Amino acid sequence: MNEQYHNTYIPGMISIVVPVYNEEASLDELISRILSCVGSMDRTFEILLVDDGSKDRSVELIRKAAIQDSKNCDIIGVMLNRNYGQHAAIMAGFSNVRGEFIITLDADLQNPPEEIPDIIAEFDQGHDVVGTIRQNRQDTFFRRFASKLVNKMVQQFTGVNMSDYGCMLRGYHWDVVNAMLQCHERSTFIPVLANSFSRNSTEIPVAHAERTLGESKYSVFKLINLQFDLLTSMTTFPLRLLSFIGGGIALLGFLFAIILLIMRLIYGSAWGVDGVFPLFAILFIFVGAQFIGIGLLGEYIGRIYHDVRARPRYFIHEIIGRDP
Ligand code: UDP
Ligand code: MG
Repeated sequence: MNEQYHNTYIPGMISIVVPVYNEEASLDELISRILSCVGSMDRTFEILLVDDGSKDRSVELIRKAAIQDSKNCDIIGVMLNRNYGQHAAIMAGFSNVRGEFIITLDADLQNPPEEIPDIIAEFDQGHDVVGTIRQNRQDTFFRRFASKLVNKMVQQFTGVNMSDYGCMLRGYHWDVVNAMLQCHERSTFIPVLANSFSRNSTEIPVAHAERTLGESKYSVFKLINLQFDLLTSMTTFPLRLLSFIGGGIALLGFLFAIILLIMRLIYGSAWGVDGVFPLFAILFIFVGAQFIGIGLLGEYIGRIYHDVRARPRYFIHEIIGRDP
C-alpha cells in the first residue's frame, strides 16, 4: 500500500488528496467548488479522489469526474478495494501524487475548499507543513471536548506545539509526504507523523462548517480506536507505566512489612492479628513483582513494535556540497 508510484515531483504543482467514503451527497459540490477555486489561480493542480471502499454512488461520481478534466486541474480517482479507514486512504492518495505540495481535505465540505489559496501562500513562504486551527468549530460538545484532550496529550508526547490535530485540511511538502510513505506501520495518524518530519511548520486559522450532507463516518467506537492509534503510535509509555506501578506497589508492601516487624517487636504478636497483616505485606510485594514482570515484557514488546514499524531512523532533508 505504501509503495510510491512517482519518485519525484513536478515543481510548483499542487496535489489535493481527498479521502471519500460514502460521500455521494457532497462529492459533486466539493469537486465544483475546488475547481472554481483553483481555476482562478495561475498554477497546475491535480485532485486525487481516493475511494475508500464506498458502497454508494461515490465510485460512479469519481469515475465521471475523472474524465472531465479542466484547464489547469487533473482529476484522478484512486480506488481502494475495501474500506481501510481515512488515514490509510490518504496514504494511498499520497503514493500517487505528482505535485510538489500536497493538500489534504475532507470530502464532506466541513473544511471549505476556499481555504486552499491560504495554504498555498504558506508554502510560498517556505513552510513544509501547514497545520490549521478550526475557528468556531461546528461539532458537538463531546467531540470538541475529546479533541481538546487529545490535542493536549499529543503536545505532551511529541513536544511539537500544534494546537489542532483533528482538522484534516492541511498541507505538506512532497519531502514530508515521501518520508511518511516510508513509515510502514499499520496505524498511522497523518498530522502527527508529518510533524515528526517537518523542519519548518506553521499553523493558520481556517473556517469550519457543519456537516450538512451525509453523516459522520466516525462512530464513538471508531473514535476511541483512533485515539488508541494516536497514543500507541507516539509512545510506548503506557507499557512502562506498568513497571512504575509495580515498583510502587512492591515498595509499599516492603515498607508495610518493616512497619509490621517494628510493631510486632514493640507490641507483641497479638498486634499483627496473628499473621494476617504480614500476609498482606507479602501479598503486596508479590503483586508488585508481577506488575514489574509484565512491565518488563512490555518493554520488550515495545521494542519489537518499534522495529516492526521500521520507520526510517533519520530523514535527510538536503545534501549540500555534493556534485550532481
Ligand atoms: N473517510 C474515509 N474512510 C473512512 C471514514 C471516513 O475515507 O473509513 C473520509 C470521509 O469520506 C471524509 C473524511 O474521511 O472525507 C472525514 O470523515 P468524517 O467527515 O465522517 O469525519 P468527521 O468529520 O466526523 O471527523
Ligand atoms: Mg467531517
